[in-house]
Amino acid sequence: MLPYLKGKYGNPSSLHRIGRASRDAVEEARRKVARLLGAEEEEIFFTSGGTESVNMALKGMAIPHRRGHIITSSIEHHAVLSTCRDLEDYYGFKITYLPVDRHGLVNPEFVGKAIRKSTVLVSIMHANNETGTIEPLEEISKIIKRVNVNRSEANLPRVYFHTDAVQTVGKWPVDVNILGVDMLSLSGHKFYGPKGIGALYLRTGTPLHALLHGGHHERNLRAGTENVPGIIGLGSACELAEKGGGGGKDRNLVRLKEKLRRGILKRIDEVTVNSPPDACLPGTLNVCFRYVEGESIALELDLKGVSVSSGSACSAGSPEPSHVLTAIGVEPVVARGSVRFSLGRNNKEEEVDYVLDILPPIIRRLREMSPFYYAR
Ligand code: PLP
Repeated sequence: MLPYLKGKYGNPSSLHRIGRASRDAVEEARRKVARLLGAEEEEIFFTSGGTESVNMALKGMAIPHRRGHIITSSIEHHAVLSTCRDLEDYYGFKITYLPVDRHGLVNPEFVGKAIRKSTVLVSIMHANNETGTIEPLEEISKIIKRVNVNRSEANLPRVYFHTDAVQTVGKWPVDVNILGVDMLSLSGHKFYGPKGIGALYLRTGTPLHALLHGGHHERNLRAGTENVPGIIGLGSACELAEKGGGGGKDRNLVRLKEKLRRGILKRIDEVTVNSPPDACLPGTLNVCFRYVEGESIALELDLKGVSVSSGSACSAGSPEPSHVLTAIGVEPVVARGSVRFSLGRNNKEEEVDYVLDILPPIIRRLREMSPFYYAR
């Protein structure tokens, strides 16, 4: 990225030499993103990140229909949920939010049953950002394909399939043809790339209305001068992920996570593990510690140099339990004590040992201060 932040400042839309050099670099990055996904380079559109890609896919598909029906799940990231809410509130769309099971899995049969005459789009995430659950997209896309065969015979428009793959690209195998999706959103900063850059995969022939209007950038689908250094960083992240096995299931991460999971369960009582044992991102472990707040644990761990995220969003000082955890059946009072540990390729075994050393006294101290602990 550095040369493109310093001397190579050409605008890729300019015809002069330095402009053409930037254009070449952008197109090279597009090829790298496409290669990682098993896509064609002209099917990749650069955006400012996962949120924009999701908005571009959902609104760009829905708005031309004026009214219609969309199917999604109840555990999507707010990028999807808030976009659906907006389509409901301001554009008159009907949205079905599918339930999930104890592990956060969407039942593919439920998708088939939820499809109506007016359905235009199904959007189901590839992996959940809180629990790491991997959704059965292949089965879902097969069901949508079967429905589309019948719809084409009945002269009905087809149903398109989008996935928010922000949590999987670069960390888990993602091939758009194996998954059978028409659109896929990804974000650079989730797999060692820069922040503020992402992409939308759009299968050739999928109709999409542009949300940003202006110049002719990104084949008229996303106007605005390209973020050249960001795009180059995203391309490199994809190239590195591909060299590391195409976003393969990292065995070392799985081993470290298992050590962390077992260690926590052995050392601390009244703990619930929310990440599923199978079909889960290798580095994501979501755990609830009863009688304490996730935020307090995160702050205590931060003081000791460990960065985790508490699974709940804080609004106006009152921590709301996570919509994902409540959807998988965790009681709201328990969900408040959730912590998400995210292991990455730079984490070492000693760091897991360190967390296992410092966590039990933190939980003990917090529980000793908790009125819920004494009222149990
Ligand atoms: N979707 C999921 C599943 C995410 O985890 C995130 C970010 O955390 C997003 C979408 C939004 O991506 P971005 O931050 O690049 O806009």
